[in-house]
Amino acid sequence: MKHLYIHIPFCERRCSYCDFNTYANLEDRIGPYVDALCAELAMLEPPPLPAAPGSNGHAPPLTSAVLRPTIFFGGGTPSMLTLDQFERILQAASRLVTLDRAEISIEANPGNVLGDATPALDYLRGVRSLGINRLSLGVQTLHDPTLRILGRTHSAADARTCYDTARRAGFDNISLDFIFGLPGQTIAQWHAILDEVAVWQPDHLSLYSLILEESTPLYAQVIGGRVSVPDDDVTGAMYEAAMERLAAAGYEQYEISNWARSTAAPAPGRVPTHACQHNLAYWLNSDYLAAGAGAHGHVYPQRYYDMLRVDAYIATVREGRRPIAEVTNLTPTDLYAETVFMGLRLNVGLNLEHFRLRCGVGLDEVYGDTLADLQAQGLLERTADSVRLTHQGRMLGNRVFEAFV
Ligand code: SF4
Repeated sequence: MKHLYIHIPFCERRCSYCDFNTYANLEDRIGPYVDALCAELAMLEPPPLPAAPGSNGHAPPLTSAVLRPTIFFGGGTPSMLTLDQFERILQAASRLVTLDRAEISIEANPGNVLGDATPALDYLRGVRSLGINRLSLGVQTLHDPTLRILGRTHSAADARTCYDTARRAGFDNISLDFIFGLPGQTIAQWHAILDEVAVWQPDHLSLYSLILEESTPLYAQVIGGRVSVPDDDVTGAMYEAAMERLAAAGYEQYEISNWARSTAAPAPGRVPTHACQHNLAYWLNSDYLAAGAGAHGHVYPQRYYDMLRVDAYIATVREGRRPIAEVTNLTPTDLYAETVFMGLRLNVGLNLEHFRLRCGVGLDEVYGDTLADLQAQGLLERTADSVRLTHQGRMLGNRVFEAFV
């Protein structure tokens, strides 16, 4: 098996915009939860490896087969785990994923890493020594008043310190998460963040437009008029600014919301060296297992997700049962549509050989008319071996994706 997602559903406190499956003030459950997680991993069966394309003497196309094995610890706040807990989970995961050559990522919160009893440098060195080789830091913004509105536990200075400490601890693959379109955020503030980040030179950047989820306190504040967020024109301008400034700083955008540095020269069909292998598995609509409360897995022809509540999750695993909340059976039509609209998120587009290997049928056989229509509208373009969004298609992504549903 190549890909495994592990969910750590604990946070020191809830951010005002967050609707992830995560809980504050449950620190006393972390130990029993890790026990249950290891037991769940022991119950999982790896799916078959993806089919590889035949060799034609050229560089292989971007298909599931060319990805490295991956483990992604997401959350929540995985950096709330101790080194011993990470070690136990990795040991349990090693029967599912070949750890050698694997990309192993953890999400970390600067406030938690710096605020823990263990000094940050020692902790991060310990994490790195376990074979965890990619760190994804949730920075979100470098504007302290906005961090407070978001309910983050760190300041901009903490984020800088955490980033520098991670470099000193030996991490040479660091990703930073930012959000744009935040309450009160101006274009000038966003430009200042992009300029500062260009100086930091992280290996990877994920930039997301704020999504106001109805269940969150921030949504209620915005609806109640207590805080305001930039309109669509301003967030669109922020996105355009990110594309321009990060390209000028040497980053390659390889997905709608993701940029990375590369040590290899650009070439058709290739993604940058520091592209996230785990997320590429999602965008290629590959199979992956998942473990942990609320974790979503996908092994065609099924999707599943685990029980959301921590106590129910622990109790079910203790009874020797898999803690699955729901299984969805997928049809070939689901597989075709998901492979297209996930693949089109990538700047290199959807490789035709990848679609054939994943779906067992040619892309034009399924979507010939739709593709021609979107091409005529200037939203899609074709190369000899792929289909991809044009710049206009990228700005109107939802209109394109709806055409395949
Ligand atoms: S740290 Fe991340 S997962 Fe936790 S509440 Fe904040 S946004 Fe949500």
